[in-house]
Amino acid sequence: MYLETLSSKDAESERPEEVLEWAFGRWQRRVALFTAFQAEGMVLVDMARRIDPDVRVVTIDTGRLPEETFRLIEEVRERYGLAVEIVTPDAGEVAELVAGGGPNLFYRSVADRRACCRVRKVAPLRRALSGLAAWITGQRRDQAPSRAGVGVVEADAEHGGILKLNPLAYWTWEEVWDYIRLHEVPYHRFYDRGYTSIGCAPCTRAVRPWEDRRAGRWWWEEPGAHKECGLHVQAPAAKNGRRPLPQASAATVPA
Ligand code: SF4
Repeated sequence: MYLETLSSKDAESERPEEVLEWAFGRWQRRVALFTAFQAEGMVLVDMARRIDPDVRVVTIDTGRLPEETFRLIEEVRERYGLAVEIVTPDAGEVAELVAGGGPNLFYRSVADRRACCRVRKVAPLRRALSGLAAWITGQRRDQAPSRAGVGVVEADAEHGGILKLNPLAYWTWEEVWDYIRLHEVPYHRFYDRGYTSIGCAPCTRAVRPWEDRRAGRWWWEEPGAHKECGLHVQAPAAKNGRRPLPQASAATVPA
């Protein structure tokens, strides 16, 4: 079923493809898929490319990504014919960060780690979102306790109230991999080495079978809600654990 408006349909029950189709039809070049090429992102790249061959795919090259991520970007470019837009941090800010704390300051404290994420991820994201009406991400509720309230459609107060679409919000890990296998979607080689969540090379490791799927991210830190890089700032959840959908109106849906 095609989503006509946000208020007339409950986006929570829409298939991911329908959410994407709605967004591309409404905003064309003013909506983009942001991905670090994890499994969820690859599902969305595959879905989005089938719906809109000109879909904008954006990624942030933090300067600390593993070589395998670049190999996957090349695979995406070749297989899907997509010009992946690569956003980079401000060179001056990185130089200042490294001069003050050293290249691996993130191992010292949560505050230092967040400072690195701010310069290498959060600030470039903010710049890349400028001018967009909506962005699409691969967030899912069962990725981490901090994401349990992720909605399919959210108003992104952190970025000027544009819409943030998480079409896979209610998908399970198994559904993600069923899709990848069914459609023979290319995926990051680290998954075959025991990784279950993939980011910058020095801040990601494989997990053991009994560990949480995000345990390999900032693995030296204590588990907890702070284990986010700041790209996704969650608004407080409603009593049912989910944030309310924005109602469609001229005020809440970017034109
Ligand atoms: S994940 Fe690690 S290297 Fe990447 S931006 Fe954050 S602290 Fe820096």
